[in-house]
Amino acid sequence: MARIERLAGRFDVQEYGRLDYPPDHYRLLAVRSREVRDDRPWVLITGGVHGYETSGVHGALQFLEQRAAGYPVNLLAVPCVSPWGYERIHRWNANAVDPNRSFKEGGAAGESAALMRLVAPLRGRFLVHIDLHETTDSDESEFRPALAARDGKPFEPGVIPDGFYLVDDSRNPQPEFQRAVIDAVAKVTHIAPADGQNEIIGGVAGRDPVPDARAGAVRGHHRGSLHHHHRGLPRQPAFDARHLQRGPGRRDLRGHRVRAGEVGVGAGPRDPFTSRRNAGAR
Ligand SMILES: [Zn+2]
Repeated sequence: MARIERLAGRFDVQEYGRLDYPPDHYRLLAVRSREVRDDRPWVLITGGVHGYETSGVHGALQFLEQRAAGYPVNLLAVPCVSPWGYERIHRWNANAVDPNRSFKEGGAAGESAALMRLVAPLRGRFLVHIDLHETTDSDESEFRPALAARDGKPFEPGVIPDGFYLVDDSRNPQPEFQRAVIDAVAKVTHIAPADGQNEIIGGVAGRDPVPDARAGAVRGHHRGSLHHHHRGLPRQPAFDARHLQRGPGRRDLRGHRVRAGEVGVGAGPRDPFTSRRNAGAR
């Protein structure tokens, strides 16, 4: 909170909602470019949709503190979408609801509803959305078993990727952009190798696009958008900045041609937090 508020010297810091989980209350804070220009693309950065994926929260803050001012874009950043989960190192919110399965009409998570209200006026205008996630070892030891227990389903063990990874959106594949991101990340950390099935969290490794059915989980709120699951940083911390989305006919920050998209936040193809390959991740 203090780090976000310190950004107020250079950005507009906005309270876009509150979470009331008595006796605790959390302000939801967004950071926005002070100068917004129509000739600049909008960029959305979100971290901490899953509060326990803390590297995304710190990555977003670090970017805002050190680099964001250098980009000629209109920036909207929400470093910590789920502060209750961040404080407790938890994936869900206080009501055992996964915010990343709640970006939909009538979704049960206040965290997600507040974020959707925040971005609604800019829907369709974002050139890129970077949603910072992380795949932790505790997914296998704690959070996926907890999900199975909550939902009364058997726990099926999975594999935690060791490194940076991306997953493309079969409905709007952008392999060149993904390659550019991976090549850039490979200079600073290792890229996750495929598992024994030549997959990374269920997607086919090194091949774009992933089979269409696997993207089903993201469609509800992500029509026409891109979902890049970053083949990620080392285990601890590991980024899974999964969802990059880009807007109409613009060039992204690396100069690659991109296509239409609209903003959203969501799960990737065959989400490891579903009991089935991909079936209705939310
Ligand atoms: Zn996540």
